[in-house]
Parts: sequence; structure tokens; C-alpha cells
Amino acid sequence: MPINAVVWGENVHERTNKIVQGIYPDGMHATIAAALNTDRAIKATTATLQEKDHGLSEARLARTDVLLWWGHAAHAEVRDDIVERVATRVWEGMGLIVLHSGHYSKIFKKLMGSPCSLQWREAGERERVWVINPNHPIAAGLGDRIELDQSEMYGEPFSVPEPLETVFLSWYQGGEVFRSGLTWRRGAGSIFYFSPGHETYPIYHDAAVQQVLRNAVKWAANPAPAWSSITRAHNVPTPEAPEKIKQRGPRLHKDGDEGLR
Ligand code: ZN
Repeated sequence: MPINAVVWGENVHERTNKIVQGIYPDGMHATIAAALNTDRAIKATTATLQEKDHGLSEARLARTDVLLWWGHAAHAEVRDDIVERVATRVWEGMGLIVLHSGHYSKIFKKLMGSPCSLQWREAGERERVWVINPNHPIAAGLGDRIELDQSEMYGEPFSVPEPLETVFLSWYQGGEVFRSGLTWRRGAGSIFYFSPGHETYPIYHDAAVQQVLRNAVKWAANPAPAWSSITRAHNVPTPEAPEKIKQRGPRLHKDGDEGLR
């Protein structure tokens, strides 16, 4: 069974900006999905902000193994109930790959619990993405670095929680550095943030960047069945305790009462 990946694109600049249209005539999400589909272990489809439920119905998310997220101009237009839905699926074990300006998306900020702010500059400068964790599955098949001739500078401090792993560290021509490939786990879900991907440069056409995304999808996929009770707190009444115990002291809830949860 291939890994079911959904590439979510906000799909705004692709329709409103001639430069972006020229680089990604079918949208960045389509380019990314096509790159993922060159690997037979992955089956990628797309979803956009403009679709019903942003293309992320309960049923579709339930069968999604890994969700990729690109957003920039319309973070605020993403419905809060959909963000909640995506977060629940991450906790259940769905992988999440957040790309570039997705650092300010509602879903990333919610799962990080921090501002996720950074510095930036749009000068078309060179970026060297150094592979600083060469044995990590996300770095498989790469050399010691990826060179991007034109990139947007993303600089530290990046206000995210200390990551589980740092896979890439970027250097920019202007002198700044940035932790450009970071992982976290939230609930049973694996999260990867990858910073290259500014829309006015052809970054998602780069072969090495495409390799990173394929690697990341495989890394983030969790084959274990979702534990659907992850958002609930169960009451285990005294008679159902694994060992026989005697009820003592005051209690707030009756047997079988799930409380206020
Ligand atoms: Zn950008």
C-alpha cells in the first residue's frame, strides 16, 4: 500500500502573481505532488484553501498518512475547526510537513505552542542548505549540501520549541544562518519543518529539494492504526480496576461518569 500524501496549497499567489504563475502554472501544490508521485511508494493528491472544507474533509483526513502544508498570504482564512481537525489527526499519528512560510500557519503555531517567528529578506541571494544529520532518513541520497542559487533569507532566532532533531542548517549569502530542517513529535504524529520554498523562485523544481520532500513523507508516515481515543480521558470505575480495590474517601464522580471531558 503506498503512503497516502495530501499536498495542501493555499493557492493564492499562483492565481494573482504573474511571476509565480510562470514558475508554477498549475500551482506549487501540483508541482510538489508530481515530485512525490515519481516514487511508487507514495500516492500524492492535492487540496486547496478554495475547496469545500479546504479540501480536508473528515473522511479524507482519516485516510491521509502525511499532510504537506504551504501557506503564506491567507493563513487567517483557514477555518479554525479545520485546524482543530488536522491537529487531532496529527495527534492520532498523521505525519505533517510544514513548508516555508507555513511557519506562521495556524496549524503549525498550534502544534508548536510558540510564536514561530523569524527574520527574513527577499534579495534573491544564494542559500546553502547544509546536511548536518547525514544519517537521518530525510537526508537520504543527498550530498553534503543543497545549493539554491536564489532564495529568500530566513534567519534566526526561529522561535519554535527545541526540536527533536535538526537535519539541515542553512547559510545565506548575506551572512545569516537558519535551522532549515527540524523535526518534532506531537502525540503519535511526526512533524517536519523545511524552510526553502519561496514562491518567486523555482525551488520546488530543484531535484534535491524534491528528494527531501519524498524522504520526509516516508519518514513522517506512521503505519500504526490511529488510536482514536487520543483526545479523551477515560474513567475506569473501581470495579473495573485490574486489581481488586476498595473504594475509600470522598469522590466527585459516579462509576461510569466521564466527567466534564
Ligand atoms: Zn517566502
